[in-house]
Amino acid sequence: MNAALKPLILIVEDEGDLVTLLKYNLEKEGFRVMSAADGEEALLLANEQTPHLVLLDWMLPLMSGLEVCRQLRRNPKTRDIPVIMLTARGEETDKVRGLNSGADDYISKPFSPTELVARIRAVLRRASPGLAEELLRFSDIVMDLAAHRVRRAGRDVHLGPTEFRLLRHFMQHPGRVFSREQLLDVVWGHDVYVEPRTVDVHIRRLRKALNNDDEEADLIRTVRSAGYALDQKSA
Ligand code: CA
Repeated sequence: MNAALKPLILIVEDEGDLVTLLKYNLEKEGFRVMSAADGEEALLLANEQTPHLVLLDWMLPLMSGLEVCRQLRRNPKTRDIPVIMLTARGEETDKVRGLNSGADDYISKPFSPTELVARIRAVLRRASPGLAEELLRFSDIVMDLAAHRVRRAGRDVHLGPTEFRLLRHFMQHPGRVFSREQLLDVVWGHDVYVEPRTVDVHIRRLRKALNNDDEEADLIRTVRSAGYALDQKSA
């Protein structure tokens, strides 16, 4: 996916740890992310950058998320930007709903990153169809991220979860070479210790599944001492 076509999400949240976590998960899913720690900064950024969606915490210093949402709706430039409000579990959610803040959706903390990404995609699909593209294509490979399905030349390709994440990363950056360490970070996460050669094992499995046991051209290029890339020219 071209970087300019990736949806831009503005996170408005004053808890640094949560911002870091959200950023990590959203970038992994192919979104561009920027963040603001308070309402004023959020309104400035939204006005300057016109993000595709605002993820807005209800509990903010100085100006509440609710007020930020109202002001976004008052400005013609930001009026149509979809807003997902983050609230604490329980009554806050009802309060936000009752106050009719103009948010498009609400999600209560704590939430799973998977649930959040699904909600973001749903809201984006309604607001700007075509933007929340969930199909990745490369050569004769089609990857349906929503259905978690991969097809090559019309044939179903069955991948384990690790191979699926590897392929998704390659398909989001075709032609780019990634070192084993970079792939470990992206696919297994920063905190998990995995031997770099584990990457080779999963690349082998991915190749086997994609190439239908060597019947089809190998699209994964091994770059000696550098890593791997998804490429037309196979080694
Ligand atoms: Ca907060």
